[in-house]
Amino acid sequence: MSTESGTPMSVLVKVDLDWSAPGHWDADHSLPCRVCSDTTQQRDNTDLPCHKHCREDEIARELLGRAYALVADERFPAPAQQGLRARTEVAR
Ligand SMILES: [Zn+2]
Repeated sequence: MSTESGTPMSVLVKVDLDWSAPGHWDADHSLPCRVCSDTTQQRDNTDLPCHKHCREDEIARELLGRAYALVADERFPAPAQQGLRARTEVAR
């Protein structure tokens, strides 16, 4: 993906969740992760079996998708473009 000017765009999203609360660990049951299907004793915020890194990757992918959508959405012009539009309208 690239910006309007053709400059390649790079976005890095890193998610680091704090799952130190006891609700994220089930010492009695190891169940298939809802994302990768490998067994885990970890639980997500909805109490479903899920590895912490799987949930972090899932959130990162969601955020990355939203970031690309914002860049591609012309309803949100960059600040420099807003100034250009204002000057263009005054000149008419
Ligand atoms: Zn997993």
